[in-house]
Parts: sequence; structure tokens; C-alpha cells
Amino acid sequence: MGYRFSPMTQHDLFIGGSWVKGAVYQPNLNPSNLDESVGEYAHADEAKAKDAVAAARAALPEWSRSNIQTRADALDRVGTEILARREEIGRLLAREEGKTLKEGIGEVTRAGNIFKFFAGEALRISGELVPSVRSGVHVEVTREPVGVVTIITPWNFPIAIPAWKIAPALAFGNTVVFKPAELTPGCAWAVSEIISRSGFPAGVFNLVIGKGRIVGEILVTSPEVDAVSFTGSVETGHHILLAATKRHAKVQLEMGGKNPLVVLDDADIEVAVDCAVQGAFYSTGQRCTASSRLVVTDGIHDAFVEKTISRLKALRVGDAVAPDTDVGPVVDQSQLDQDLSYIEIGRGEGARLAFGGERISRDTRGYYLSPALFVETDNRMRVNREEIFGPVATVVRVKGYEEAVEVANDTEFGLSAGVVTTSLKHADDFKRRSRAGMVMVNLPTAGVDYHVPFGGTKGSSYGPREQGRYAREFYTTVKTAYVSS
Ligand code: NDP
Repeated sequence: MGYRFSPMTQHDLFIGGSWVKGAVYQPNLNPSNLDESVGEYAHADEAKAKDAVAAARAALPEWSRSNIQTRADALDRVGTEILARREEIGRLLAREEGKTLKEGIGEVTRAGNIFKFFAGEALRISGELVPSVRSGVHVEVTREPVGVVTIITPWNFPIAIPAWKIAPALAFGNTVVFKPAELTPGCAWAVSEIISRSGFPAGVFNLVIGKGRIVGEILVTSPEVDAVSFTGSVETGHHILLAATKRHAKVQLEMGGKNPLVVLDDADIEVAVDCAVQGAFYSTGQRCTASSRLVVTDGIHDAFVEKTISRLKALRVGDAVAPDTDVGPVVDQSQLDQDLSYIEIGRGEGARLAFGGERISRDTRGYYLSPALFVETDNRMRVNREEIFGPVATVVRVKGYEEAVEVANDTEFGLSAGVVTTSLKHADDFKRRSRAGMVMVNLPTAGVDYHVPFGGTKGSSYGPREQGRYAREFYTTVKTAYVSS
């Protein structure tokens, strides 16, 4: 299959099987170089958002009954093309979001693999045949599509998160209206363009770029939308939850984290520092699974802090596509302001900034910030309770293992948690007692596989898990049929 990349100088919306002009077009700026635009992308108005929902509704009856081989083949084509173009789309990702090229290509590879995984899942959908308690009757339990699904995604994983929502939605026979974050329409458009040529009937998949507060609002409140899958901030998540459940739509939310990485006295210090630096600062710390709280026991604390600082000194912050960059820029001015304001909040609360936290100049105008490490922090400080979402981590010193577990769990969030230890006893105990949805042993809290469930507890998540086999819980609904023979 031949492909065409960005054939339009302006990138349009995709509604009802056609490319449709936006109300306005906005430049997609490169956070490594604000003098460079990655492209012009359409913004939808309310009418276009309504058109997309109507198109998805009209396409639903046919697609919900479509042949599973047709679905699997179409998804497989999407995955194959994404993988074949991983370097090109990875570069686009690095240019629009600020992740390093290596991280960008890694994320695109993950997206391609996700489409291929769900191509297989389309074929593996199954039900149950159950004997009835009544003679001459049997019971069939089957899974059906939920219907029209709105997918709303954030900017920090601009292709992987759309992939892990769109692929299962389509695999299980739903139709989709996809609204990516305004900041990162490039990867969203690229994946949509591939989907548009991969064998899905008109209206099955629709792309609507636009403001969350206007376009997103319609996609959440429309009575024609049966389910909403959202990843983003806690505040928007809560708003969507109330708006969608008011009319009994199915909702799945993935929100923030304040993920602890516990480092115990018996840890291999090299592993501990590596987990902390990777987990807290790679991808510029802009991950919901970032290790933003480093909970460190007394005996190893000073050596851990010293070694972490020397690793931070060696990290190269720079243009996302430069080959020697370890940490790219912050995504935009408002995120940078948020990061800098938390650095001031931390100082004001009495935490000691042991390294970084400063604006850096490079050859190009970009949102460069040196990785920041706070020490002498208390778990009650705002910098330990609120999601900062940047290259900022804190160290909380604790006396021993019991206090470490208590501090790790003392948060409103519960997405990911890690422990670095050479003790099997502590590793096992931490897996059991951690109140996070994902637990890592001798690994960074960020960085997960694509074929197993993803999600958290408490304020981090709502609704069924995403990814892997568990994705079907959200994207299907169960029907129980009684048959008298
Ligand atoms: P938001 O939660 O505002 O945005 C996420 C998505 O929701 C975007 O597509 C956004 O659209 C959309 N949206 C916004 N308002 C509405 C609405 N009323 N109805 C429907 N959709 C809506 O996060 P931001 O991108 O603004 O980031 C703000 C903060 O959120 C970050 O600083 C960070 O702390 C946190 N965050 C957490 C993430 C996580 O994975 N835990 C991911 C991203 C952000 P639009 O882009 O047009 O506003």
C-alpha cells in the first residue's frame, strides 16, 4: 500500500468518510523551536462536532454487525503502516510534543503494536453458553459493541493513548469520534489519515480537532454518544464524569498520578538512581506514571541523593530531535509556568532545591527547563500532593520500610508505584500493600507493556481498565439471551 504524508498544506478534519474544512486553522508550534510550525491544523466548530457524532451514529448499525475478519484486517493494515513509518511519525511526534526522537519512535512503535494486538482481539471476542436452571432452556452470554464512542486524549502521549483507545473501540464494533488535545494534532492527524485508507466504512471513524471546552463538551454531552473514554487532568476528568453520567453514558477516565518510587537501604544503588532518573525526568517528566515522589530510607538517602544529582548534571536538555538530547523541552508556556510556579511553591514550603529548576537557553527559542530535584521535603507539602507534570521530583526521607509504605500510599492518587530492593520479602510485601493499580519492582514507575491492563486506583482512574484483554470490559456491553429449544 502506498502512502501519502501530509499531502494537504492545511490538515483537515475527517468526518463521515470525507476530509472536511475547519472553521479556522491554527499552527502547531514546535516546543524546541518556537519559530517553527509543524503544520496548520483545522479547528472544528460546534456544527462540525455534531456532524461527526451524526456520522458515527449513522455508521453504527452496519459496523456493529461487521465481519470480524474485516475488522481484524483493517486494524492490521493500520498497525503495519504505523510500524513502517515509525521513524517519520516519531520525528513528527518529537517536533510537536518535545519528546526526544528515540522516545518518539518508541511511542509510535507501541502504537503500531497496539493496532496489531487489537486486530487479533477482534477475532478472539467470545461469549458463554450456559445451561439454564429451567429444563429445555439454555442461556447465551454475548458481548456487543457499546455504540458511538467519544475518545478524548491529552498531549503527552499523542499517538499511543489514541491508539489504545481507538483500536479496541473499532475492534469490538463501535464507531468513534476522536478529539485529540489541541496542542498535538499532528500525530492524531497522521494516525487518522492512515485509518481513512485502511478499509473502515465511512463514518466508522471521525477526527474532530478543536477546543476541549467547546468541541469536547458537545462530544461528551451529545445524547447520541454512548460512551466516553478520556485521559487528561483530574479537573477535566471530573467534569466529564458528571456530564456524561448525568445521561447514563458509560465513562472511563485515566487521570493524574503522584507516583512514589520507594528506595530501600538494601537497594542496588545504581538500579535505584537509574529508575529515579528515568522515571522522573525522561519524557520531560510529562507522564502520568512519572516517579514524582522518591521515598528513600535513611541508610541510603545521602548516597542516593548525591548520585542522582551527578546523573542529573550529566543529562543533556535540548532540541528533541538532536541526537544527543536526553530530555526535551516542556510542551508549552502554560505547562512551563505551572512547573516554575511549583518550584516556587516548593521553596516557599521549606523544601530545598538541590538541583536544577531553571530556564535554560539554547540555540533555538524553546521551553527548556533543567531537571529539578527537591530534597528535605515532607509528604504533606503541596509539591508532594499535587501533580506537577514536569521535570520536577522530590525526595522524602523515611526511617524504614514501614514508614516508606505508609508515605507511598499517603496520596489521593494510585496509578503506579515502585520499589527498589534486593529483598524478596520487601518486594512481595510492597506488591501486596501498595494501593496503586500498577506496581514495579526494580523498574521505573513509568514504562509499561502494551498487552496488559493499564490503570490506577483512587483519584487516578475511573471505570474499567484500559489495554490488553481487559479493554473489552469498556468497549463491549454484555447481553444475556434465554433460549427455549
Ligand atoms: P486537560 O484535561 O484539560 O485536557 C485533556 C483533553 O481533554 C484535551 O483533549 C482537552 O482538549 C480536553 N478537554 C478539556 N476540557 C474539556 C471539556 N470541558 N470537555 C471535554 N474535553 C475537554 O489537560 P491539559 O492538556 O490542559 O493539561 C492540563 C494539566 O493536566 C497538565 O498540566 C497536567 O497536570 C494534567 N495532565 C495529566 C495527564 C495525565 O495523563 N495524567 C495528561 C495531560 C495533562 P484541549 O486540548 O482542547 O483543551
